[in-house]
Amino acid sequence: MSLQNLEVPKYKIGLVANSAHQNSKDAALVQLLSGSKNSIEHVLKPHFSVVGRTMDAIKIYDLLTDYPDIERLPYGHDGGLMRLVSRIVDPDPEKSLNAIIYLMDPVDSSSAFPEALALKRQCVIHGKPFLSTLAGAREWIELESMNLTGEKTAALDPYFSYENQGIALIAHDAMKPEMLRLAEKHFDFLDRFKVRYATGTTGGLLNELAIKIKGSREGKNWVIPCLSGPMGGDAQIAELVLDRKCGRILFLEDPHVARQHEADIQLLERAARVVTDFASCNSDNKSADRWLGLLAKRA
Ligand code: PGA
Repeated sequence: MSLQNLEVPKYKIGLVANSAHQNSKDAALVQLLSGSKNSIEHVLKPHFSVVGRTMDAIKIYDLLTDYPDIERLPYGHDGGLMRLVSRIVDPDPEKSLNAIIYLMDPVDSSSAFPEALALKRQCVIHGKPFLSTLAGAREWIELESMNLTGEKTAALDPYFSYENQGIALIAHDAMKPEMLRLAEKHFDFLDRFKVRYATGTTGGLLNELAIKIKGSREGKNWVIPCLSGPMGGDAQIAELVLDRKCGRILFLEDPHVARQHEADIQLLERAARVVTDFASCNSDNKSADRWLGLLAKRA
């Protein structure tokens, strides 16, 4: 389809990858930029703000060659990542970034630096996608591109066969009403997954919703509840992710409260990053609403 008559939004993406994801020709950064080349260069045409060493890798591996709209930020140790945080929160829509792709290696200490945590947290607060795995970034590019052109990348079809897949649904207390709203709105889509997992309290609420929609026999086990999050439910779901039984995590976080089980929350995200080619994590309701709608459309 020609994009000439379509109004394409201006995508502005912050891009960074930890060194294990950019230092070989089959690293996640290389897989992402070469596998999604057509969607990036001919459909989304984003402005990229790229942190120094990631930009070096883009040149070394000859990615985005001659791509015109790319800006180099300083190296991480000179504040490159810190600048991405400031640009995510910039109130000027002309200047602010609207998504972050940060291919994180959970055993790289820089992935736990304050600026890395702040970048994720500000994405959640400002309702912008924070894509920290290869699977999540590749999927986001495919979905946004398909939304504009109606075209699908056939090679990615297996990622969208929900009938064989699992999804995890988790919400902090203040976000539980929003989780129920999203689950009700996207119920038919979520119902297509082979299995749905949840933390204890969220799971109980979701099963009540499913009973209302599907009746008590089919609805009562709509999600499989694990333990409550603070009691270890996030860790149980993390193991399902590591075992590749659950590839998508919708974790509606409340970024405005102190969280006694912060370590468990991060453990779950880090599990997704261990299996970077398989799992993705979505953490804010605005991005999640769009994500669920586009996933349903992509099927
Ligand atoms: P809950 O756990 O669904 O049991 O409330 C969510 C969490 O806080 O991780």
